Amino acid sequence: MNVVSLMAHQDDEMRCLGTMLKCRARGDQLHFVCLTDGSAGVLGAEAPTPADAARIRAAEMKALARAAGATYRCLNAPDEFMADTPELRMALVEALRATGAELVFTHYHDDYNLDHSLTHALAKHACMLACLPLLPTASPPLREHPAVYCVEPHGPVPFPASAFVDITAFESAKAELVTKHESQERSMRAALGTGMAELCRVPDAYWGQKAGCSYAEPFLPMAARGAIKTRPVLP
Ligand SMILES: [Zn+2]
Repeated sequence: MNVVSLMAHQDDEMRCLGTMLKCRARGDQLHFVCLTDGSAGVLGAEAPTPADAARIRAAEMKALARAAGATYRCLNAPDEFMADTPELRMALVEALRATGAELVFTHYHDDYNLDHSLTHALAKHACMLACLPLLPTASPPLREHPAVYCVEPHGPVPFPASAFVDITAFESAKAELVTKHESQERSMRAALGTGMAELCRVPDAYWGQKAGCSYAEPFLPMAARGAIKTRPVLP
């Protein structure tokens, strides 16, 4: 199965990374797609310009993808100023087709960040468009609408999770992978006093306690036509 993390920013995959590693263990191919270029996402002197920030974020995401045995594609929308355009919709359709998307993880509709909320809406639309033969892209249309699951939002937003994946065996690998985002590790420690691994471990333990295991990731199936499958897709 082709499993795709479809997120606004480099590091947003942290909400589904443990599940993706579990997917890889069952033989799935992993793909990371980021809609924005990350050009607003580095704090401090290491990125004097937005172009420097985008270069740093790209290098970090590529390192993570390489370590996870995954592909990585960035659609280069402007970070924090993402807009719904025909070009971005078609780039997203091509990304879904090129990856052969069968299982997609993306943002929940409510979130502190508008890039995240807009990614949710674009993902919902593009997963449907990716099946339409009259929209030409380099890759052929998907034969079937992928299964889509929303990840836990960032910030104090109620999240009605209804599916849980036990990632206990993958939590340490996940923690190691997220620290590939070295600039984010430094930014988070400066802003919040805690690193990327801890930002994963605390919510994963919270949801694990609810799900009856040590660490879990929570999901909500996307309420969209074709996005919910009657066969099991989560690992
Ligand atoms: Zn983000």
